[in-house]
Amino acid sequence: MPVELLGKSADELREFALSLGEPAYRGPQIYRALYAERRFDIGAMTNLPVALRARLAKETRITLPRIMRRFPSMDGSIRYLFSIGGPSGNPVGSRGEKSAQIEAVFMPKEGRQTICISTQAGCAVDCHFCLTAQLGLIRNLTAGEIVGQVLVALQENREQLAPQTNIVLMGQGEPLLNYDATMAAVRILLDPKGVALAPRHVTLSTSGIVPGIERLGQEKIRPSLAISLNASSDEQRDALMPINRKYPLAVLLEACRRYPLRPREYFTMEYVLLGGVNDSPEDACRVVRLLAHLRTKVNLIPWNPGNLPYRAPTGDSIEEFKSILLEKGVPAFVRYSRGQDVFAACGQLALIETASPLSTLQ
Ligand code: SF4
Repeated sequence: MPVELLGKSADELREFALSLGEPAYRGPQIYRALYAERRFDIGAMTNLPVALRARLAKETRITLPRIMRRFPSMDGSIRYLFSIGGPSGNPVGSRGEKSAQIEAVFMPKEGRQTICISTQAGCAVDCHFCLTAQLGLIRNLTAGEIVGQVLVALQENREQLAPQTNIVLMGQGEPLLNYDATMAAVRILLDPKGVALAPRHVTLSTSGIVPGIERLGQEKIRPSLAISLNASSDEQRDALMPINRKYPLAVLLEACRRYPLRPREYFTMEYVLLGGVNDSPEDACRVVRLLAHLRTKVNLIPWNPGNLPYRAPTGDSIEEFKSILLEKGVPAFVRYSRGQDVFAACGQLALIETASPLSTLQ
């Protein structure tokens, strides 16, 4: 079975080079070709000797997520539906290996692009406003599958890349429930010799998995942290996000207070505004109280009406909510989801694909 190179760290590639009887420095050379230069064909790794390339071509492979469909939006973003095979590369169906579909979105804006990627196929967390939840957890992604989504999106859009790349781990899945693979991918993304992104430009979004937040706080190299808050009381959050019964607001926010934020680092609180559910002025006041003494900003995300039984907030309620936060000194921004014309909500494409062949969408 060929050895998968994608997702391996520089140290792992160094050990691999030694196992082939090659000098250790060949490992970092492969690492650089893969992640910094985005060479996905061993033959194109011209920093390696010809004989080694020939051997690697036989004994290794580089498996990128396969693009099943691209959905370009009117607003310039492109939504990708990827197919991934079995995690160990064994044929799908053998030893319980499952293929899956995952989603990523490339969103260009002046001076930068943001790429939203998945960390699991499906998700077990069961947030009631999320379509991915309806898929259940299909499987964890490997580090190679996580970093591969970024590499494919960058490579696909190489002609129009802006100088800055932001990554948000907000696609399918709860990143902190696939901790090791997610962090292995993040280390490659943040490594100056790898994809070379700045830590403040890579954001991991969690539904509030407290042990994962505590573990992340101990990491030397880590992304920015966003918490999917979405409610102003336990009662409300229990109803929207059952994970709140395991990690209620007091426990979650205490973990945030203990989190060793670095200078200029802050939390982002994501708050999906659901019309008539969590968007009242009283909710806004409670959010202010919850976030007192936390270095945080709040992203207010008006709900997109879709297949779920929620309605969009009115323009007035969005403005009032935001004003209350700002008046009380809580930085707040309204963020509209992009790509709404191309099934923007996370999980939407995979759900549609599960239900009917994609060709019916053409
Ligand atoms: S919002 Fe995120 S954590 Fe919640 S079910 Fe959807 S993918 Fe999972």
